[in-house]
Amino acid sequence: MTAGIYAVRDGLDTLVLEKNVVAGQISTADRVENYPGIPSISGMELMQKFKVHAENTGVNIQNADVSAVRAESDRKVVITDEGEFEALAVIVATGANPKRLGVPGENQFMTKGVSYCATCDGPFYGGQEVIVVGGGDSAITDALILSDIASKVYVVHRRDELRACSVLQKRAFGKGNITFIWDTVVQEIKGEELVDKVILKNVKTDELTEMKIDGVFIYVGISPNTSMVDVEKTDAGFIVTDDRMESSVSGIFAAGDCRRTSMWQVVTAVSDGAVAAISAHEYITSVKYD
Ligand code: NAP
Repeated sequence: MTAGIYAVRDGLDTLVLEKNVVAGQISTADRVENYPGIPSISGMELMQKFKVHAENTGVNIQNADVSAVRAESDRKVVITDEGEFEALAVIVATGANPKRLGVPGENQFMTKGVSYCATCDGPFYGGQEVIVVGGGDSAITDALILSDIASKVYVVHRRDELRACSVLQKRAFGKGNITFIWDTVVQEIKGEELVDKVILKNVKTDELTEMKIDGVFIYVGISPNTSMVDVEKTDAGFIVTDDRMESSVSGIFAAGDCRRTSMWQVVTAVSDGAVAAISAHEYITSVKYD
């Protein structure tokens, strides 16, 4: 949305292609409290504001599922389920999805006790016991949401120290119904129709424990949605850019969670979008007039 706003305001003929609805990962956040100027807002509400702002600026948003971006010298061709679009520059801002844990039972019990989103699925666990896997901002944010719904939340983390920011850590340590299980990983998720237990492994002692549980919420990082574009990426698939947000292919830029960066936040995605749009304008000017 930010790239769209900056591109339109810079006089570019701009089209934003969106697969579903303008929302993204942040729309699953119950509270966003670190976006300057807006002390507290739900992720969905924040994204609605972005969308309205973009539309009011004149950004044209169309629904289309992009399967490939092809660079044909100065022309870029974007292939979608709604046909092909041509542009001089493309900004990839396709975000990321939660990573899978990759243990037996995870796929089998997806939506049957395994979840990646407390805001979406938490309400099904009223008065029940759940575990949260991971120690980052996502894990602790969602452990806090779950602690207001479930009777008990166990945070299972592979180390004895959290990665999450200190504000979140303090809140979680202060919650009476959140218990931390340190130095431990989930080895298997089991059940009949629904999840009813997990096998935990202490990584220091190798001791295995079976634990009865009603739900497993997994937050072990994010995986970028970048398969549609053939540019230089990290081993994990994040697009490598320079500080102008340009990828290894001239005229293809990247912004937000799909880009290799040190921080995946709304505020940094917004910054990336602005830089990418201005850089795209510079690129287009050079292609047209050099
Ligand atoms: P993350 O920061 O990469 O944290 C992933 C966590 O999962 C880490 O604690 C990691 O352990 C653990 N982990 C990774 N692989 C694992 C495995 N195979 N088994 C067990 N544990 C594993 O991911 P995230 O929490 O989803 O956050 C992603 C980005 O979004 C971050 O930049 C974060 O700051 C941002 N975010 C921000 C907010 C906020 O500002 N409120 C909220 C949500 C997300 P180790 O610590 O040992 O590596």
